[in-house]
Amino acid sequence: MVDVAQLVRAPDCGSGSRGFEPHLPPKIHEGNNIYCFPFLFPYHLPYFRKQKIIYMQSWVNYHSHTRYDDGNAEPIEYIKKAIEIGMPAYGYSAHAPVNFNTDWCVPQEKFNQYKDAIKKIKDEYGNKLQIYQGLEIDYIPDIAGKNSNILKDTELDYFIGSIHFVDRFQNDDHWNIDTSLELFKKGLISIFDNNIRKAATRYFELTRQMIEEDQPDIIGHMDKIKMFNTKLNLFDETDKWYRDQVNLTIQCIKKSGGIVEINTRGYYRYNQPELYPSLWIVNLLNKAGIPLMINSDSHKPNEIVAGMTYCAKKLKKLPVEKIFALYNNKWKEFLFNENGLIFP
Ligand SMILES: [Zn+2]
Ligand SMILES: [Zn+2]
Repeated sequence: MVDVAQLVRAPDCGSGSRGFEPHLPPKIHEGNNIYCFPFLFPYHLPYFRKQKIIYMQSWVNYHSHTRYDDGNAEPIEYIKKAIEIGMPAYGYSAHAPVNFNTDWCVPQEKFNQYKDAIKKIKDEYGNKLQIYQGLEIDYIPDIAGKNSNILKDTELDYFIGSIHFVDRFQNDDHWNIDTSLELFKKGLISIFDNNIRKAATRYFELTRQMIEEDQPDIIGHMDKIKMFNTKLNLFDETDKWYRDQVNLTIQCIKKSGGIVEINTRGYYRYNQPELYPSLWIVNLLNKAGIPLMINSDSHKPNEIVAGMTYCAKKLKKLPVEKIFALYNNKWKEFLFNENGLIFP
C-alpha cells in the first residue's frame, strides 16, 4: 500500500524556492505565500508539532514527457521529484513513435529502450509510489493511432489521444499545429486558405474521428487549436460555429466514456490564463457528466504538478466536485481541494 499522506510543502502554495512553477506569472503568485493544512492524519501530529511549515501534497499526474521524446530529463528524475513531494501516483506519456520524422516523438529505434527504461523504474520504485506506463498517441487517419503497426504489441496502462497534426502541406509534410506561430500561419494559409473556421472544424472532426476509432482513455488538450488564437486573434470562442464544433465533440466524448484532461501547460509555460480546454468547455463537459482530470503535460521534473492549484481553484468555482485518477490500476473519482486529491 502506498503511503499517500506524506507531509511536504505544497509547491503551488510556496514561493517557488524549491524550484516549483518557475514560469508562473508574478501577479498570479502575489500573496500566495499561505501555508496550507488541507487534511492531517493523527500519526502526522508529532511531525506537525516539530515543524511549522508542512503541507499535504497529493497531486497526481499522468501526462509527462522525458528526454526520450521532447522532455528534457531522464525518466528517473521525474519519479525522484514525485517521491520528494509525496505524489501517490505518476504516469509517463511519451509522444508515441510515428512512421515519419518529427522532432518530438520517441524515435522508432529508441521505443524499446524507452519502454524498458520505464519498466525498470516501475520495478525499482513501484513500492514508493504507483507508476504507470502510458503514451500520448497522435491520431492521423490511416497513418498514426492506437492501432498503427508501430504500437501493436505495446502494453500500456492507459493512453492519451491527442491531435497535433491537421492534414498535410502540398509537399506531403504533416501540419503540426503545436510547433510555432510561423508554422501555424503557414499551414492555415496554404492548407486552409487562411480560413480558421475551416481549420478548426477539421481539427474537431479529427478529434471526433480519433475518439470513435481509438477510444483513448484520456482526451489530450481538447481545444489545442486555440493555441495561437491569443496572438493572432483569429476567432472568438463564443462564435456559433466554434461552439457547435465543441458541442458535437462533447457528445462524441460522452458516448465514448473517455476522460477529458484539463491541461495546465499553457498556464505555467506560456503565461496564458486559459487552460486546455477553456473553462466554459470544462463547464459543459462537467454538466454532461463527462469525467475530468488534471494533468500538467510536464516536460521537466519541476513541472510535474505545475499549475494544478491554479486549475483546482478554477474548477472549484464552476463547481467541479470530483476528478479522476488512475489508482490501484483503476480509474476512480476523487474529491480534491487546491492542494491535491483527497485519498480516503
Ligand atoms: Zn500534446
Ligand atoms: Zn504532451
